[in-house]
Amino acid sequence: MTMHNKSFDTFQFAGMALDPIHVGTGGARLGRVDNTIVRDPVTRIPKVPGSSLAGVMRAYTAMAKGKYPNCAGLGQPARNGAGGHCGQADCPVCTVFGFAKGVGASGGFAGLAAFSDMQVLLFPVASQLGPQWITCPMALRQTNLDGLSNLGDLPDQQVVYRKADKTANQPSLNLGWLFMPVKTDWQQMGDVVQKIEEALGVPGYIISRLGVVSDKLFTYIVNSNLEVRTSVAIDPATGAAEEGALFTYEALPRGTVLFWELTCRNPKHFKIGQDDVKAVDSPKKVRDVVADAYSYLELLGIGGMGSRGMGRLRVLTAKKPADSDKSGKDVS
Ligand SMILES: [Zn+2]
Repeated sequence: MTMHNKSFDTFQFAGMALDPIHVGTGGARLGRVDNTIVRDPVTRIPKVPGSSLAGVMRAYTAMAKGKYPNCAGLGQPARNGAGGHCGQADCPVCTVFGFAKGVGASGGFAGLAAFSDMQVLLFPVASQLGPQWITCPMALRQTNLDGLSNLGDLPDQQVVYRKADKTANQPSLNLGWLFMPVKTDWQQMGDVVQKIEEALGVPGYIISRLGVVSDKLFTYIVNSNLEVRTSVAIDPATGAAEEGALFTYEALPRGTVLFWELTCRNPKHFKIGQDDVKAVDSPKKVRDVVADAYSYLELLGIGGMGSRGMGRLRVLTAKKPADSDKSGKDVS
């Protein structure tokens, strides 16, 4: 069994919102009256759909690789046949993200990379001690990190658990309007801190302000501390404010830490037309193509309203990326 026979590898990432992030339930067009954010149907916690992330990462990878705009976007050629995805075996954008246009007799390709939804991992809330980052066992479980994937709910539902250090000596903490007793005796806290620092790169200033609450309380805290902004719809034809078009919208606040997984299929198991995939030769190389364009998220952001100072996200750098244990089955 050798590495390159694995059918896929899954890589974990975390990123911190540098601006409020709004990914609406409707279209992403500027000025569209679209005031709610996408939520997980089960947990009711806001998220960024993997399809939204894949869309922007495709565009940013195309920019990074000099393949913009043809290999970005939906890839439909113009009526005269010009443009659209190139669909070549040596194109890092078309092999990693797939393509619509058939090459020869073949009819498109699904792509080697698949993005999970981006889930809220750590949520910033104002307190008397400054911002605190709140999480819960459910949010930690969905990272699938070793030691966290089977976390049970908390021993006491009505408290906030903190790391035992001098900043945790306060007997209580206010999280927005909630006044919560503090405890430091949750057995799993050490594992949680170690994993999110090492595997996801969560910085020390967040770790020192980390609080863990029950799943139910987390849902409540997130939904009652979303940013709500008021804006004016602009008529795209005139650039003027549309009369009466004031609208409000929700956003994840600046400082929110999101988690997502990138599943990378093994290029050796696919052909583009008659050719082997030439742009990448392993799941790690697929990851690298995507990761090379993460810096664009910090400049150009994700979600709607990018021109209103929204959506920029910094992907965190892990000390020890957890990438070797989640791989797919070996194929002999
Ligand atoms: Zn291409």
